Parts: sequence; C-alpha cells; structure tokens
Amino acid sequence: MEESITLKPIGIVESLITNRDDMPTNGIQARIRVFPAYIGALERIEEYSHLWILTWFHQAPRDVTTAVPSKVNPLSHKFGVFALRSPSRPNPVALTLVKLERLEENTLYVTGLDAIDGSPVIDIKPYFEHDTVFSPRTPQISPLSQNALQKTLLKQAVTHHGETCPDLLLAVRMALSADKLLGYIKSPNVQVQVYGSSCLADTIQGLCRARLANPARFEFCSSPQKNSIWLNGKKRLSLVGLRELNLEMFWGLSDYEIFEGVMEETDSYLPGNASGSP
Ligand SMILES: [Zn+2]
Repeated sequence: MEESITLKPIGIVESLITNRDDMPTNGIQARIRVFPAYIGALERIEEYSHLWILTWFHQAPRDVTTAVPSKVNPLSHKFGVFALRSPSRPNPVALTLVKLERLEENTLYVTGLDAIDGSPVIDIKPYFEHDTVFSPRTPQISPLSQNALQKTLLKQAVTHHGETCPDLLLAVRMALSADKLLGYIKSPNVQVQVYGSSCLADTIQGLCRARLANPARFEFCSSPQKNSIWLNGKKRLSLVGLRELNLEMFWGLSDYEIFEGVMEETDSYLPGNASGSP
C-alpha cells in the first residue's frame, strides 16, 4: 500500500546556519517559531528540559538508500540510511534531541538543534527519562580528527553530568586518550576503574557507558588522587591527573601536561575480578 500522506508544518526553524555543510555535528542554538494556530499545543512545555524536534530536511536527496556518515568520518563504512541519522532518506524527517532554554510566547529557544534556517518543523515531543538507554549497542563511527572527537565527547559529557566542572574536563581528556590508546571506550571489552572525585567518576562512567553490574565494567573509589585505569584484554592504561583544568587548558594542553600515563601489558584480565589499583 503506497499512499501519500500530507503533513502540515507546525512551525519553522530560525537559526544563523543557512547551509547544511556549515552545520556542526552537535547542532546549534536556534529558535523554533510555532505558528499561531498551534500555540495551545505548547501549554506546559516549559516543564520539560529536553524535547525531540522533528523537522523536514527540505534540501535532502530522497532517492538514496545507503550513505557514508561523512560528516563524522568520510572514511567510514557505508550504512543503510535506516541505520544512520543521515539527512538523505526516502522521507527526510530529522529527529533532534534539544535542550529547551526558554519559551517566549510562541517561540522556543533551544540548544543542540540540527536543522538549518527555514526548516519546516513537523512535530515536537517531550523527552522522558524512559527514552534513555544507558548502555546501548552502537557501531563505532569515530570522528576522523581528534578535535572532532574531543568536541563530541565534551558534548556527551555535559549532557550526562550536567555541569562543566574541572573534573569533567579532566575526564573527557582521559577518555579521549584511552580511546586513542586502547580502542573504543564504549566496547563491552573495556573495563574502567576510577579513583578520585564523584564528578570524575560520573563523567567517565557517562562517556564509556560502563555499568557497575550486569555486566560489571566500572568501579569507583573516592580518593584525593585523580586516577583512571582502563583495561582492554591484556592492555592496562593508567592515567593520573596532574592539574585542575579550565576550558583553555582543556583545548590547549598536551596529554603530557595533563596527566601521567602508563601503558602496560598485564596477565589476562578477568572481568569482575579487578586486579588494578592506583
Ligand atoms: Zn561536576
């Protein structure tokens, strides 16, 4: 049954980005102007911190079934478009999770929106806690540049931890280094132990999606030292933080200036039987 469906936009995106190629991977701050006929549909929307925004990628090609996630990594494998968030797809509906900053009359001010200026908005839905899957299985599509990966990890970390504190910045740099030296940190094979503050532990846990149990991939012990230990097979990487970071240092300092790292080969590591200690 191939019937056509008619959709009526309920609003429009107003943003400084007018060309898809200029859109950052993490989206941007933007406004969603909801048309006057739908103002009643916004009632009590400010009670939610996050919203799903469905927009129509009006410039996207619709005759495509596979694509390379070239914005993240042009050297990546090809995926079917239903296995990607690519704008090119039979029905170019875009789904973006945004943070609602405020509502003024019929205008929603949001951050993280991946839609260019003038994009028709077709629906808005609230984000619920039960939308969250803490440790989903996802393919590894690593950004090609370290800088892009650092930006992505910073965004994930802030979304998870909720504040950009010095230990969050240290955690992101540690995760970036572990990803480079040990491999994909979200992999079920990577185990993590954190000695330090709860902000450091919370951020690292959020970035590597490692749970305390089922399967046990994460351990935390409160300590004045800031040390993360990453285990993958026989490889063990220990990173000890040397200083408190601010944003300038986060972007400017080399790994050697931020932590002392030791990479070792260990006897095979038994999951759930932590052998590392700081
Ligand atoms: Zn914190």
